[in-house]
Amino acid sequence: MDSCLGVEQDLDKATNKFTAIHDHTNKVLQDLITQVEKLKQEISQQPENEQLSQEYTLLVSELAATLKQTVFQMSTEHRELHATVSRVGKSIDRHFIADYGAVAPKAELFCNEANRPIMEQAMAQHLYRQGLEDVGDVFVAEANIPPVERTCTFAQLQRCAAALADGDPSLALNWVEKRTQELAHSPLPFTLHRMQALKLAREQGVVAAIQYARKEFPAYASRHERQLQAAVCALAWCTPGAPAAPSHYAHLLDPKALGVEAAELFIRESCAVLRLAALSPLAGAVVAGARVLPALHDIRAKMSHPHVIAAWADDELPLEVELGEDGGGYHSVFACPILRQQASELNPPMRLLCGHVISRDALNKLAIGVKLKCPYCPMEQSPAEARQIYFS
Ligand SMILES: [Zn+2]
Repeated sequence: MDSCLGVEQDLDKATNKFTAIHDHTNKVLQDLITQVEKLKQEISQQPENEQLSQEYTLLVSELAATLKQTVFQMSTEHRELHATVSRVGKSIDRHFIADYGAVAPKAELFCNEANRPIMEQAMAQHLYRQGLEDVGDVFVAEANIPPVERTCTFAQLQRCAAALADGDPSLALNWVEKRTQELAHSPLPFTLHRMQALKLAREQGVVAAIQYARKEFPAYASRHERQLQAAVCALAWCTPGAPAAPSHYAHLLDPKALGVEAAELFIRESCAVLRLAALSPLAGAVVAGARVLPALHDIRAKMSHPHVIAAWADDELPLEVELGEDGGGYHSVFACPILRQQASELNPPMRLLCGHVISRDALNKLAIGVKLKCPYCPMEQSPAEARQIYFS
């Protein structure tokens, strides 16, 4: 984030300079045009076929000199602008790491014969999931890849979300109405009805909005009492000529902010109902990658010992990555609390008789013959009593 702010500062400097030069140049040019027009007008009023008086000749040559001088000044200013713009480029180089090759030594695997079709499939799938079916179709045809499932469901969700971001909740409301049971505990229906009421207030007046609120809001009165009160109060500022709303209502009265918030909520909740991942595999990989790369870069710089570097060759990352809510926690993982390794098919999590869970490798290491002492509670048991745990 600091890097972005650093670049933004330099970018602001360049933009300000550009605007200042633009305004100044326009003003100078306008002055010159006025002067030239004025002189032209005066000369045209002189008698024809007569030599120009010495006074006018002097004026014309003076003006020509001023013009030349101005053009020279402008080109100098323009050159200086180039320097400021190129400073932005240098600032980007300084603030960001240009080459992540060192932390992804196997990046070329993405392009080999076996993996390239998988990458292309992932790209096409991503385009379809974003609701960009026409772009996806062209991509599939031009890249000559086998047809990809167009995942219409997700495209439909994206269309609803796009309409929401655009301020129109009707498509999303239709979708929600068919799933009232599944969404009984979700904040989505109320969010959409609130958006619709405020939209009606803007477009058809407060009376229409109140009618809508009377019909739709009571069902959510107990669960969303405070938001409901705020939404109804916000209607007071929707009347024509109403004074500026207090700042804590600004969010409710900004259709764009409301739309973007509703669109994000819609994708999250609808994906949860349909048990779809909110991100396509490609988008999920990009989000996770963007999150882990800076940390990998740092750790790589510190790991120069050959033994440590060897850890990099494995398929495992040398550090734990917190993917967060939007980073795509697709499935449960188990990391052994004893060996600090992620469980795998060969080394699955095992539930001990006492209820504590450790990996099979840890269990084998801790077992002494037919006896095993739990490393957490000192309960003695037999290793054979441990049961494998499966994550779905
Ligand atoms: Zn135990």
